[in-house]
Amino acid sequence: MMCSKEYIERGENAVLHTYNRFPVVLERGEGVRLYDLEGKEYLDFGAGIAVFSLGYGNQEYNQALKDQIDKLLHTSNLYYHVPMAEAAEKLLKASGLSRVFFTNSGTEAVEGAIKAARKYAWLKDGNTDHEIIAMKHSFHGRSMGALSVTGNSHYQEPFKPLIGGIKFADFNNLDSVKQQITEKTCAIILETVQGEGGIYPAEPAFLKGLRKLCDEKDILLILDEIQCGMGRTGSMFAFQDYDVMPDIMTSAKALGCGVPVGAFVLNEKTAKNSLVPGDHGTTYGGNPFACAAVSKVFDLFEEQQILEHVKKITPYFEEKLDLLVDKYEFLTARRGKGLMQGLVVTGRPVGEIVTKALENGLIVISAGSDVLRFVPPLVITENDIDEMVEKLEKSF
Ligand SMILES: *Cc1c(COP(=O)(O)O)cnc(C)c1O
Repeated sequence: MMCSKEYIERGENAVLHTYNRFPVVLERGEGVRLYDLEGKEYLDFGAGIAVFSLGYGNQEYNQALKDQIDKLLHTSNLYYHVPMAEAAEKLLKASGLSRVFFTNSGTEAVEGAIKAARKYAWLKDGNTDHEIIAMKHSFHGRSMGALSVTGNSHYQEPFKPLIGGIKFADFNNLDSVKQQITEKTCAIILETVQGEGGIYPAEPAFLKGLRKLCDEKDILLILDEIQCGMGRTGSMFAFQDYDVMPDIMTSAKALGCGVPVGAFVLNEKTAKNSLVPGDHGTTYGGNPFACAAVSKVFDLFEEQQILEHVKKITPYFEEKLDLLVDKYEFLTARRGKGLMQGLVVTGRPVGEIVTKALENGLIVISAGSDVLRFVPPLVITENDIDEMVEKLEKSF
């Protein structure tokens, strides 16, 4: 215990206290397991918040990163490099969209999407008072733009004034969105599956209705796939389950599987009529190291048939979670898609269960105020699920 305690204390004394961290010092990972400084093992159903899809210590992934480090880490965006062309092509092929801008994070991807949407509208009419409709209980990040479209007043309040022209509608309520639309609306932004807000998948009729609405009024549909994308729902991107295409998609989290990288990806129409040289930039975004990671992630998804695996294991996972809902009175519902699942906890604090689970060697996280969130690495097996259930029940 000596060791962890020391680093927790040193961390607390040096790092700005913006997180109430769990009292664990993680040191290394292997497969779907993490180990702390004392060597205690944790079964990981959080994957660093839906990031480490391939599991820890994937040799091929690690080797690709090591090779790129030895070649070239960074160039700036003033030059071309091989990994960027490769990563971009793979991302476009996987998404069905036509142009990508790489960022360092999800938040920055959302910022870029907002700027692209505003520029698109500005080019049409020259006005500077365009509006964006976002969803209540959404999460898009913490920078001023991304925070402005995040439907959580607790996160927003101390940082006002935020960017102007943002309106909020009810998720999965088409009429509520219609009521917010004006001549000035330039974009609608939403998560295909709301993550932080409590694991709410979009209903097919809602998403299809939004697409139709956007087409009729030449409004851009921005789908935030930062958490629900990259295979988590069993499709490469969650919108592909709905037969609906966004005009702009944002990606991050599992895109680099641990290397900080994000992207906003545009369709042809939006790419041709928005950002041009001088409009947007980044020093690090899409550097050779980040792009080598993205490129390898797409290769490994194919080689290891990750999507097929997620589709195959999802029914088993859902069945086990449903059994828990049947068995425990305080578990009142299951929601989710693929390996992005939530259990609604009623009448007792979720945080207590999360803490207890950690003690029992299981990492799960919360979402919203009352949801136990499961976003494991996409390579989990039925045995891992059984072990998770056993450890979770022990924590009740
Ligand atoms: C995590 C997340 C973000 C923010 O991404 P960062 O990489 O933390 O900046 C934005 N949108 C959604 C849906 C997310 O889950």
